[in-house]
Amino acid sequence: MRDTDLYRQLLGLEKPWTVERVELDVKQQQVRVFAKHEKPKSWPCPECGKACGLHDHEQERRWRHLDSCGFQTFLHARIPRVRCPEHGVRQVRVSWAEPKARFTALFERFAIDVLLETSIKGATTILRISWDEAHHLMERAVSRGIARRPHRVPRYLGIDEKALAKGQRYATMVCDLEHGHVIELAEDRTKESVRRCLGRYSIHDLSFVEAIAMDMWAPYIQQLSAIVDHAEDKIVFDRYHIVAHMNEALDQVRRRENKALRAEGDDRLVGTKHLWLYGAENLVHSKVDLATKLAFAKLRSSSLKTARAWALKESLRDLWKQRSRAAGERWYDEWYSWAVRSRLTPVKKVAAMVKRHLPNVLTYFKHRITNAGSEAINSVIQMLKKRAFGYRSFRNFRTVVLFRCGGLDLYPSTHLKAG
Ligand SMILES: [Zn+2]
Repeated sequence: MRDTDLYRQLLGLEKPWTVERVELDVKQQQVRVFAKHEKPKSWPCPECGKACGLHDHEQERRWRHLDSCGFQTFLHARIPRVRCPEHGVRQVRVSWAEPKARFTALFERFAIDVLLETSIKGATTILRISWDEAHHLMERAVSRGIARRPHRVPRYLGIDEKALAKGQRYATMVCDLEHGHVIELAEDRTKESVRRCLGRYSIHDLSFVEAIAMDMWAPYIQQLSAIVDHAEDKIVFDRYHIVAHMNEALDQVRRRENKALRAEGDDRLVGTKHLWLYGAENLVHSKVDLATKLAFAKLRSSSLKTARAWALKESLRDLWKQRSRAAGERWYDEWYSWAVRSRLTPVKKVAAMVKRHLPNVLTYFKHRITNAGSEAINSVIQMLKKRAFGYRSFRNFRTVVLFRCGGLDLYPSTHLKAG
């Protein structure tokens, strides 16, 4: 087989395209494949498919293709332009790449696999592409995926806010809890953010949403009440957020108490922050060493304010184990009176906030949904923790999240035929 035939097959070139010649540049470690076309009677218009006459050719362009034995491989060609009576002068479609792509479709498919498996930095090394090229590739993949996404109204929505940089900037994220995908993200955490995330659905579509897990955040509540029919029965202020508020209150109590104790030379609370924030059963199975666990057991049964706040936090988690809405309501009344008697201001604030919103906390017993354990949300949290990707802008952040957690069909189609 001649090298021109070999590359025609490897590139999946179809009539009228063939390989004219192949150049090997050992010094630059490159293979350059030049494609040419025969002279067909007509070319299809890229818009309407109508057979049109040749108008002219574009300047020569090149596309990066999969390496050949470690040599970077480029396909070079001049794309013909047709003159369609309806659409004017247009560049014809080629089988090896999407319009405006810098890579062949086969290279893009491979690059997407690599980017899904590793960090962007890792992928740039493996693929020998730049950071910008990697981002551009992901952006294209995400747009492709979104354009192909079937229009399906999610039964269960999860709405969450994420701090992007030290609490200075926020993103609002809407998830499909049933399928574990991120649907969309928008900057900030305003009514407008929610509106933008759900922009692809009409008011009629949104009436089919059965329940929404979210935080007690006024702009979200207002916006959802405005666009989702019977939102008052569908909104679930979920366990994940309420426990997070309680952890924050506990941490405030600890910080204040630690300061007071240290002023008296008592260092008992120093370095204990993370221990209090564990769920009790998770601490048991954690990697925390035995001596620390034993010391912590002593601390939490002490008369410290922090220990009181911890007991209330741990106990609150039982709310969601109640059998019914009525049982949950009774249970919360008891917990609430314990909390208000605790004389711990941050805890009392959370208790009051939950009480104010109790009807939509108890909707849990009807819908049984929560953002806790949501695959989509957890993977985004992991990404934020690792900072394993460079989101220099919100746009980059959105691209990376949808690329990894959007449940999208990211791949360009290829025209490679078997045999
Ligand atoms: Zn046309």
